[in-house]
Amino acid sequence: MTRTQSIWSSALAAIAKELKPEELATWFKDIEPGDITPSQAVIRTPSAFYSKWLEVYYAEKILSALEQVTGSRPELVFDVADEPSSSKPADPEPKQPATKARPKSKSYTPKLNKDYTFNRFVTGPSNRLGHAAALATVESPGIAYNPLFLHGGVGLGKTHLMHAVAHALTKRHRNFQIRYFSCESFMNQFISALQKGGIEQFRARCRRVDALMIDDIHVLAERTRTQEEFFHTFNELYNAHKQIILSSDSPPEEIPTFEDRLVSRFKWGMVARIDPPCLETRMAIVQKKAEARGWTLPDDVVEYLANIAPSNVRELEGAVLKTIGYASLSGQSVTIATASEVLRADRPKIPRGVITPDGIEKVVGGAFGVTPEQLQSKSRARSIAFPRQICMYLTRSLTNLSLQEVGSAFGGRDHSTVAHACEKIEKEQTADPEFRSTLNSLTQQVRAHAARSD
Ligand code: ADP
Ligand code: MG
Repeated sequence: MTRTQSIWSSALAAIAKELKPEELATWFKDIEPGDITPSQAVIRTPSAFYSKWLEVYYAEKILSALEQVTGSRPELVFDVADEPSSSKPADPEPKQPATKARPKSKSYTPKLNKDYTFNRFVTGPSNRLGHAAALATVESPGIAYNPLFLHGGVGLGKTHLMHAVAHALTKRHRNFQIRYFSCESFMNQFISALQKGGIEQFRARCRRVDALMIDDIHVLAERTRTQEEFFHTFNELYNAHKQIILSSDSPPEEIPTFEDRLVSRFKWGMVARIDPPCLETRMAIVQKKAEARGWTLPDDVVEYLANIAPSNVRELEGAVLKTIGYASLSGQSVTIATASEVLRADRPKIPRGVITPDGIEKVVGGAFGVTPEQLQSKSRARSIAFPRQICMYLTRSLTNLSLQEVGSAFGGRDHSTVAHACEKIEKEQTADPEFRSTLNSLTQQVRAHAARSD
């Protein structure tokens, strides 16, 4: 048995303890481990539907099982295996030809999500500009809009659009070299190149390309050294008329501690804001997500689901997935009644003693004199951002919520913002014993609050 297999079988044993046998048989029987390293675990599944379902419902369980076995929480990557067998839930996407060599998991960039294509992107007034600009960069990369800077709240389709551009560019232009980084992986690779040597190779990887994409560039706030590196990369690519595409949770000038010279460069090309979609667009998205899985939903259910999560398409998609998943497993048809039944289960009544983000928000907000609204707001004022980071840190350490879930509990931030907050608080408490004791006292108050509340 290889190391990966033995890790996976121990993890599976831990997962099995927590699931009903039918759940285990439905979702875990046909998945296999790919490479499992401390930083990344690749899980091969029979179809895109499986991948998405596992990601939405079981990612946390898989992660904590892996953590129990290996002591680290890797990034989870769900990957569709090459040869799906026919008994699996339908996956309408065409498969890659079996002969095509799968890139080794050592590849430097995160894999592009093959579902994130232009075909699957629903346009509406909220995202029309970003979509049009993305299409234009495919037509004339490096010329039309350079850089293309997409910004907007979490779950509104920035990553989807970037991947769509990458897919379309590779299809349209022969031998087009694209490098896509999450900002975090750009940062980590840069730091590791500095520490272990290999900065020239890192630079070549970023600069010998026809297009460079960095997702969630706001994560570079406060990272002056990486900003500096990025600045030079930007200049070199820009001068060579290579396409640069960036995404961020806020417009360039509102990213705190970003150097002016970077902010001004971000505005040289096209800055496109993506807003939360209107009801009509949300309904089209719901229908499209269902269709992609082979379902056509009745109009009333579409409208009902479209109103579940007005400002986050990712949550909307979760609601669709959960509803049709339940219908297909239970054999029931999809009605508003089934949808509301299934979705209600999302919000079980919280028993006494359970620590929730709300409780943490109350305690920490009280201690720092900030309101829950301020903690949920976009404000980056230190007097608000700091207690918010403490909230994230405590939620992460006192609950089982994933980085992503913690992010959505505190104003819809993304996982990298939460990871950054946790890292920062962790560092401060190590460096400063007084701060550590403040954190301890907050933790006790949070526990006491949970024990009191119903
Ligand atoms: P962001 O990067 O802005 O946080 P993502 O691109 O990750 O958001 O989108 C979250 C989810 O919502 C993805 O599954 C994506 O496919 C879906 N999504 C967002 N906007 C749209 C859209 N306009 N049409 C179809 N799907 C969308
Ligand atoms: Mg994103």
